[in-house]
Amino acid sequence: MAVKVCRGTGKAKGFGCGKPLQYSERNGIKTYDAKYGLGKKCKCYNKWLSSSDEGMKILSKATLVAKKKVEKQKNKEDKERLKQMKIDSMSPDKYRATYVQPLINKIARFIDYGNPCVPTGNYEGKMAGGHYTSVGANRTICLNLHNIFIQSFASNSWKGGDDKKYRASLIRIFGEEYLDFIEGLNSHRSIQLRKPQLIEIKEKAQKIVLDLEKNLEVLSPKERIQKRNKINVELDIYDTDYLTFKI
Ligand SMILES: [Zn+2]
Repeated sequence: MAVKVCRGTGKAKGFGCGKPLQYSERNGIKTYDAKYGLGKKCKCYNKWLSSSDEGMKILSKATLVAKKKVEKQKNKEDKERLKQMKIDSMSPDKYRATYVQPLINKIARFIDYGNPCVPTGNYEGKMAGGHYTSVGANRTICLNLHNIFIQSFASNSWKGGDDKKYRASLIRIFGEEYLDFIEGLNSHRSIQLRKPQLIEIKEKAQKIVLDLEKNLEVLSPKERIQKRNKINVELDIYDTDYLTFKI
């Protein structure tokens, strides 16, 4: 086979130095280091790009694409920096409310997957994780899974969440002893989580959410308590006596 030489084709017709082109060979297939028939080593391709009308069109298009790419990357970095600044300037409680609480509520909702809204018994409507003792009433125990159960949005937003019904339902589903335990959570010493702790909790919670999401199953009341025990221990936020309910 004749050696390929640097000779422009297509848009680059009429250009080229005529010297043999460089190539690399793999499995008997030669790949020439050329574009539009013009060699790169001999610089004919570059010369053509910067000296011909057709070449310059390609060049300016490539420059534009590269510029846009750089801009896009810069915007992305700016956004990330801004987000990080926002996170850094957040109070721990704001961070908890924004990034941690939604995950913990989701864990409770996934544990209770397929079960009805606790206070109302409704299966319909969008479900959330709703606190028994509200976040406003006790900030300390707001991440304790024994204080959060599946609750419909409608019920959760109705006058602080159907309190009496919530209590009665917990007794009906899980028994009086468990309700005593839940209400006893209120005697946990006051804790104030710092940002680094919250970040750690968030990372753990994210993994747990992904894991639960992959293995959604309808659990019995006993299993729902056991799962709460297990994940509470994994999250490791509260004092031992408040982590697990023995059944
Ligand atoms: Zn050439």
